[in-house]
Order: sequence, then C-alpha cells, then structure tokens
Amino acid sequence: MPCTETATVFLRNFINNEFQGNSATYIESFNPSTGKVHVRVPESTAQDVNEAVRAASEAFIKWSQLPIRDRAKYLLKIADLLEVRLEEFAQAESTDQGKPVWLAQSVDIPRAVTNFRQFAEAVPHIMEKSTYQGEFEALSYTRREPIGVAALISPWNLPLYLLTFKIAPAIICGNTVVCKPSEMTSLTAYMLCDVLLEAGLPKGVVNMVFGSGKKAGEHLVTHPDVSLISFTGSTVVGKRISELAAPQMKRLSLELGGKNAGIVFGDVDIDQVIPVLMRSCFINQGEVCLCTSRLFVQNTIFQPFLQKFISSARNLKVGPPGEKSTFLGALISRTHWDKVSHYVNIAGQEGGTIRCGFSVDSLDLPEGFEKGYYFPPTVITDLLDTSTCMQEEIFGPVVCIVPFETEEEVIGRANQVPYGLCASVWARDVSVIHRVANELKVGTVWCNCWMVRSLDMPFGGTKGSGRGREGIHESLHFYTELKTVCVKI
Ligand code: NAD
Repeated sequence: MPCTETATVFLRNFINNEFQGNSATYIESFNPSTGKVHVRVPESTAQDVNEAVRAASEAFIKWSQLPIRDRAKYLLKIADLLEVRLEEFAQAESTDQGKPVWLAQSVDIPRAVTNFRQFAEAVPHIMEKSTYQGEFEALSYTRREPIGVAALISPWNLPLYLLTFKIAPAIICGNTVVCKPSEMTSLTAYMLCDVLLEAGLPKGVVNMVFGSGKKAGEHLVTHPDVSLISFTGSTVVGKRISELAAPQMKRLSLELGGKNAGIVFGDVDIDQVIPVLMRSCFINQGEVCLCTSRLFVQNTIFQPFLQKFISSARNLKVGPPGEKSTFLGALISRTHWDKVSHYVNIAGQEGGTIRCGFSVDSLDLPEGFEKGYYFPPTVITDLLDTSTCMQEEIFGPVVCIVPFETEEEVIGRANQVPYGLCASVWARDVSVIHRVANELKVGTVWCNCWMVRSLDMPFGGTKGSGRGREGIHESLHFYTELKTVCVKI
C-alpha cells in the first residue's frame, strides 16, 4: 500500500459548542506509521481551561435538571451518528495512533458507539432504590444526584474508546465535562465535537481542551470548580494527580498501568491457547494496559510451548496499519520506541535471552514507511522475576516467558509486582482455575480467554494499577452523589 500524504490538521478547542480561535502555540502530533507530523494540537493555557470550566459550570445548572431519559436521547443520537461515521473515525484513529485500521474498525470505534448506547440504555433503570422500613413505619429512598464539572483525562493507546468510556457515564448522570485527551492522539476527540454538535447536545455539556498534561492537564485538575477527576494513564501521572487533587478533596478515579501475568498450566491444548495469547501479548502493538507481559508456563510443557509461541510471534505481520494482513502497526512515538528498545537491551544485560523480535529479526517495510515507529513482537526468556523487564511496565510488544512448577509457587510469583490490573489463567482443570483466580491480587482475571469485556462488569486495578472501578454500576457510583431520604408515614 502506498504511503499517502495528507495536509496537517490544526485542532481547535471546543468550548460552549464553539470551536475556538487559533492557539498561540501548538504541539506537533506525529503519524506513527510514517514518522511525519500530521496534526497540530493547541497547547492550551490556564485561560483556555478556565473558559471551558466556566462553560461546563453554567451548563450544569440545566443539564443536571433535565430528566435522565431526555439526557439518554442525546447519548443515543451521538451513538447513531458516530456509527454512521465509523469508517472515517477508524481511519483517523489508525493514522493518529499507529494501530491497524482493521482494529480501529472492529474494536475502538464500535466500542465508543457502545459506550454511549449502553450507558444511555442501562443507567436510567438503576438510578434509585427504595425500601419500606415496617418497624419504623417509614419509607426510605435514595437519590443519585449529579455532582458538577468532571475533568476527564485520557491516554493515547485507545484514544476514543477510553475517552467515551468517561464522557458517556459522566453526562448520562447529569454532570458536565471538560475533556483533556492525550496530546499525542487528539484527532478523534476533535472529530467527536462535530458529532456532538450534530446531535444537538446543549452547549457547555461537553468541552474539549487540548494540550499537554503539565499545562492544560494540571490546570484542569487543580481548578476549584472541577469536582471530580477521572484519569486513565500511567501510574506516575496518577500519583501526581492524586497529590494535586488531595488538598481540595476532589473525587478521583484512577485507571493506571499494569504488569499483567498469563499463567499457562500443563494440561492445556497449546495449539488452542497460543492464538489467543498472541492477541493478549501483541494486539495494538502491546499498547493495551491489559496486555500480557509476563507469561508463566508450567515446566511440563515449557519447551514445546516456547517453540510454538516463538514461531507464531514471528509469523505476525508488522507493517503499514492500512494493510489488512498487518497485525502490529507502529508504536505511538519515537520516544516510546526508544523506551521499549531500551527495556529489551536491559533484559539482555540482566541475563535474558532475546528469542525473537527486536535485535534478532529485521523488518521489511515498504517505501514511505521506513521512518515509522515499527517494533517486532519480541520474546525474552531466562529472566529472574526480580529483573527490570519482569517488574516494570514496558507497554510494547514484548513478553517475558518463564517456567513454573506448582500452583502455589506461581500464584506467589505472579503477585510479586507493584501492579494489579489483570491476569489470565489457562487450564483445563476448573478447580485450578478457581483457586488461582481467587488468589491473584488483580482487578480482573480472565480464564481461558482474554479481554472479553462486558460494560456491566467492573473494570479497574489494585495496587499501583489504580483506584476505583469503571462500568455501568461503578461509573454510576462515581459520577453521582448518593443521598438517602427517609419519610415517616
Ligand atoms: P500518561 O500518564 O503519560 O498520560 C495520560 C494523560 O494524562 C494524557 O492526556 C496526558 O496529557 C495527561 N497528563 C500527563 N501529565 C499530567 C499531569 N501532570 N496532570 C494532568 N494530566 C497529565 O499516560 P500515557 O503515556 O498517555 O498512556 C499510557 C499509560 O496509560 C500506560 O501506563 C498504560 O498502562 C495506562 N493505561 C491504563 C489503562 C487502564 O484502564 N488501567 C488504560 C489505558 C492506558
């Protein structure tokens, strides 16, 4: 597929349903597949943030009073309009992020549609509950009340998918929002503003302020009129936001990094398991917080498993995101490419054996894509559990594979990291699955599957992977204040 040049897009903030004027300063955003600048993102200032928060505060008065079923109609309309433009959004997400187009078409954008649709359909049914207390001759009921202006800060790996997972629950509950998408992938958030306008969403309900975390992000987090913050990103930034938010006691949801284990027991059918593990280790170039980066394989099958895993990884095609056969597109940035390769080099220094991928296999890229940030699926063995690559989040297509002997042993080893986002367990013996799942200190355990998601189920992490959960019920709790009213009869 030829590399096609397109003009650079200049983004503008979206406040009170109006696209704002030019910014004094722009951040360059690169097309990872070619290494060329394709979007310029406004470096928003404190003044921009103040205007957006003011717009959201003013809009809150009416929006929070609107009956929830009327709010739901807007979300359903947004979902329909987004669905009509699925192809256009998928192309843009791929160009902006580096992921294969087929992945954006089948996962990212459909999930953004689902976010609006499912919160609109489910939340109105579960807002309130009541109970009659016979012994006191009283009727008690609860009201879930919207809180105010929410700051929604999202990362670059699943740009629209994760941002809409915050916008939809926040606004269906009656809050208004100011979003700050990642400065590296702001394009589809910008395009979403058009959809919001077309859906007729009242002004000020959703505002979009683009720019860096240090400037726009921190202004937003510390703004006194922002009552709640929903953040998805790295653990380092999550800690920083916690510190900034604490003095004002803002409500905080943190979805952070991971160092997820896959545990493969000796009774599995290797040929069935490996294709799913390929996805869990390498989908979206390994840039999914849920990707498996440590694989514990029982010693009875370690050698045949390793051989098949390596040959499957070598068969995954790395290349231009627009090609249907591409499994891994490009990493998000040159800086991230440097970080991932640095980790592989450290693994070599710490006694690891690089079985395939970076520094072992070469990439064959077509003309025009040579400067893209492509990285081959990389498999490392012979590392200690305490080694850097077994402990720190790499967030790229790199997996460390180590053997284990017993169930008890592997549980302890899998838990020995500062993160606790998710894990997967692969076994035929159901008792083993339940015992191991119960002992793992993570937010989600997938058993004989990976990343099968229902919005009805809570999502989030333990330890350094975050605080709080997202999902139909959990987001409803986060985005509302619960009040009990007791009436004597
Ligand atoms: P990041 O923390 O660098 O940035 C995330 C967002 O925070 C961006 O919009 C950024 O501009 C903003 N930001 C940065 N510094 C800020 C500050 N001081 N104040 C306010 N905002 C600030 O993360 P990233 O590199 O964009 O994303 C990758 C990370 O996100 C990985 O660690 C990954 O595991 C994590 N992640 C977690 C989940 C989850 O659900 N747990 C999902 C996706 C990604």
